[in-house]
Amino acid sequence: MEITQLNGVGPALAAKLAKLGLHQVEDLLFHLPLRYQDRTRVTPLHALTPRSQHLVDGQITSSALQRGRRVSLRVSISQNGAHLGLRFMHFHANQAKSFTEGRNIRCFGEVRPGPQGLEMVHPEYQLFDDTPPPLADQLTPIYPTTEGISVVRIGQLIELAWQQLEHQRLHIEELLPQQLIKQYQLPSLQSSLQQLHYPKVGVDIQQLESQVTPAKLRLVLEELIAHQLTLSRAKQQTQSLPAPALAAVQNLEQQFIQQLPFSLTGAQRRVWSEIMADVSQPLPMVRMVQGDVGSGKTVVAALAACRAVDNGCQVAVLAPTEILAEQHLHNFKHWLEPLGVTVVWLTGKQKTKPKRDALAAIANGTAQIVIGTHALFQDSVEYQHLGLAVIDEQHRFGVAQRHCLVAKAPPNCGLHQLVMTATPIPRTLAMSAYGDLDHSVIDELPPGRKPINSVLLNNVRRADVIERVHQACASGQQAYWICPLIETSEVLQCEAAEDTALLLGQQLQGVNVGLVHGRLAAADKAQVMAQFKAGEIQLLVATTVIEVGVDVPNANLMVIDNAERLGLAQLHQLRGRVGRGQAQSHCLFMYQAPLSRMGRERLDILRQSNDGFVIAEKDLQLRGPGEVLGTRQAGAIGLRVADLIRDAHLLPQVKSMTSTYASHPAKTDQLIARWVGDNQIFSKV
Ligand code: ADP
Ligand code: MG
Repeated sequence: MEITQLNGVGPALAAKLAKLGLHQVEDLLFHLPLRYQDRTRVTPLHALTPRSQHLVDGQITSSALQRGRRVSLRVSISQNGAHLGLRFMHFHANQAKSFTEGRNIRCFGEVRPGPQGLEMVHPEYQLFDDTPPPLADQLTPIYPTTEGISVVRIGQLIELAWQQLEHQRLHIEELLPQQLIKQYQLPSLQSSLQQLHYPKVGVDIQQLESQVTPAKLRLVLEELIAHQLTLSRAKQQTQSLPAPALAAVQNLEQQFIQQLPFSLTGAQRRVWSEIMADVSQPLPMVRMVQGDVGSGKTVVAALAACRAVDNGCQVAVLAPTEILAEQHLHNFKHWLEPLGVTVVWLTGKQKTKPKRDALAAIANGTAQIVIGTHALFQDSVEYQHLGLAVIDEQHRFGVAQRHCLVAKAPPNCGLHQLVMTATPIPRTLAMSAYGDLDHSVIDELPPGRKPINSVLLNNVRRADVIERVHQACASGQQAYWICPLIETSEVLQCEAAEDTALLLGQQLQGVNVGLVHGRLAAADKAQVMAQFKAGEIQLLVATTVIEVGVDVPNANLMVIDNAERLGLAQLHQLRGRVGRGQAQSHCLFMYQAPLSRMGRERLDILRQSNDGFVIAEKDLQLRGPGEVLGTRQAGAIGLRVADLIRDAHLLPQVKSMTSTYASHPAKTDQLIARWVGDNQIFSKV
């Protein structure tokens, strides 16, 4: 039933509703309240509790304009000797006049402590003389809405949809398997929806909002299943085109391994074989490799590249920043050029001539491995035979960008994709956010790495810290000094780093101080990095651009300014820049006192653990998925009733449930339409 069939819904309103993903009348039924208000009873003024919403009645005792920075209207009301203030910042003259002494008023709003006792700011109100207005006979649901549709209007529309259901002009299909309904003793769909839209009077609102009642559980399960089904659809879609089966020619891989100055860790070997099992099939690989900073993901990627090159396929290695791309270029050239492989560089900032040469080599196939940034999937790039994409730090790219690269494969051909991330993602989160990918984890660091010693320091000890850096540099070691986001503007951020570099340069006699930040020209950045790597610069002051990819084993001291402002995952990544050599490494997290309890707790986790997965799991609990995945990805998951942290324990079962839908494609369609709708970000593009 189209939404325009509802009374009063014309094309204009329908367009606005579409923005909320509401197209069918049925969709309205699954648009669930965010919160509830209790307007079913009046709270006596003497029983008000601050910071919660109340419905109150009272008699106006005074009304006066108050002059401050701007004029406000203050009305006092009383009831049986108890008082409450009402405050209005925006009001009309007529409105002000209407608050005459002695009149009765009913208000609804949040009660807060004010300068003269409890008050409501801009309450909803209704004046009355003798008979108080009627009370609501049920809790008032508050729905999420969008510009141009009021909360009241959307509530009315849902009410209309509900009537259609009750009068059986609308039918909602049971889409859960009987087995699940029995196991959890779930209420029917209609009764679940009723309990959520129109809870009974007397229900505890706080419980209703926070607890998973059987009614809610039912919808949570539906949503999670719909979500998983969407992900497996996306995967099927990716794999709907064949990809070249990359045979085990072995030659290049073996040569590559033999010339490495180290042997692979067990974890690297395991992940390598997982990748090889994928690419030897005539279906595109879509695999994510997670591995803590320094776990050696690049070597594994190079092994995959060898296999592709051996089979006559081109490889694109995509990195989010120039620094990181350059690092890969350096490694791949160093490892593979001696074996006769041609590695080509392509970025947006390249000069015309080298760029033209690169594009030609990519088009005629002489470029076997192409390394670069976003330039790799621009329109102007044509590959002769792209067979494998390696995408580093995949959370920096959107799904859309991955698809752009896939489109560069030969016509009617899929692309093997290896995405790598140093952000450890807790299993439950990975299942939800990246359920369309297979996962491998490099859960072992190369041997000989000493755990980094981490210390929290109050900023007042700055002078000691500077002295410590001085000593380290004087004894031939190198150090990083990180200036994180203090200002939201990138310009100011870079200026802060510039100031710090200047100051440290003055204070640290005989130490060469270098500076990198996001606004430096690529060539300048590269030069500073090269100097740092060569040991000509002892102290590198940097913004968080340094976070990924920098590998200087002689640097074993890191200072992070204002550590309390950064996320745990990011701090852990930054810290991973040290601890790469033989010497003991140290990381000093400096904070600005006072530190909140949660701030202290978070930094303590970093001090106590060097394990990225442990840190990510804690971060997920403390700050939610946005912190671990980045808000874009977390937002893209777009769950409505389910909560990834609260409901994580349901995921394994939900995942296994999806297989029962394989023989019911129609139910699958309906469930996806109901819960994911046109928000199918995973398969879009
Ligand atoms: P990341 O997973 O952070 O991308 P890299 O691939 O950059 O890690 O590897 C970090 C460092 O460890 C590099 O200097 C690399 O050469 C080295 N490395 C990788 N694998 C091993 C290994 N098995 N044994 C010793 N060193 C290794
Ligand atoms: Mg790396």
